[in-house]
Amino acid sequence: MTTHIIDGKRLADDLIAEVGNEVRRLAELGVPAPGLAVVLVGEDPASAIYVRNKIKRAQEAGMTSIEKRLPADCTQDSLEAVVEELNQRADVHGILVQLPLPKHLSEERIIRLIAPSKDVDGFHPENVGLLATGQATLIPCTPLGCLEMLQREIGDLSGKHAVIVGRSNIVGKPMANLLLQANCTITVVHSRSVNGKAIARQADILVAAVGVPELVDETWVKPGAVVIDVGINAIEKAGKRRLVGDVNYAKVAPYAKAITPVPGGVGPMTIACLMKNTLVAAQHASQSAR
Ligand code: NDP
Repeated sequence: MTTHIIDGKRLADDLIAEVGNEVRRLAELGVPAPGLAVVLVGEDPASAIYVRNKIKRAQEAGMTSIEKRLPADCTQDSLEAVVEELNQRADVHGILVQLPLPKHLSEERIIRLIAPSKDVDGFHPENVGLLATGQATLIPCTPLGCLEMLQREIGDLSGKHAVIVGRSNIVGKPMANLLLQANCTITVVHSRSVNGKAIARQADILVAAVGVPELVDETWVKPGAVVIDVGINAIEKAGKRRLVGDVNYAKVAPYAKAITPVPGGVGPMTIACLMKNTLVAAQHASQSAR
């Protein structure tokens, strides 16, 4: 069996080019460029890299971008003031607060404060509820990118058994909702599941979002399954720092029909979907202004 390696970087480039074309078309009609605001608290190097990539990709898609930086010891009030100001600005259509926040700040309060119409991460409870009831417009970027890759790979997902390993609010749960809407049969495996490996082995589609480096090996995978690896874990191997997923790529790839690599799979698609969400938010704002 030849395994198809799903090229998330190329798919992301295509999606960003599509978003860029739409931004240009709207500009010709006099619609202002979509604006993305990214808020970064503290100096975490990984978060700083993510923010830099998001700003770069926004610019590539012809959007305006604003970066707001606050010190790691900022107060909840000062962060909330920044979000409230961005909520009011007409030139900002999407607001993303880079998570995780330092421990003394409440992520939940910040997520609830972002205007749902500008919540391009799709984490606000209103958007979570809309997703659960099949009415969402702003869907969490990582599961949205995974769905896009699965639909391009498989086409119609109806009747496929999808097993999602992980039940976080940002990946596992919204992934389950999206695949359910795409008519898959869903099983969610988590740390308290009994015999999760045997359940995973029944999957036509296996999505790993666990945060445990290379947990999923060939014993978790039915031959011919499509495997989506959401994990991003920095590990030391032979004295070198490198990124690995939640799937043991070398062991699983020979058995899978298709698989996403790490890096170069889900990560770039997540950022591309952020651009898509920002465009959607700007389109809605321009329609409601008419
Ligand atoms: P969380 O830590 O929030 O959730 C991990 C989930 O995995 C939990 O539901 C947990 O179960 C479950 N879990 C942990 N260990 C096991 C196990 N041995 N067997 C079965 N389930 C287990 O992680 P996230 O969802 O935020 O992230 C998951 C991974 O995805 C991470 O590597 C993260 O870096 C990456 N990520 C990548 C993104 C991208 O753009 N590519 C974006 C977001 C995340 P329980 O609920 O019972 O504790």
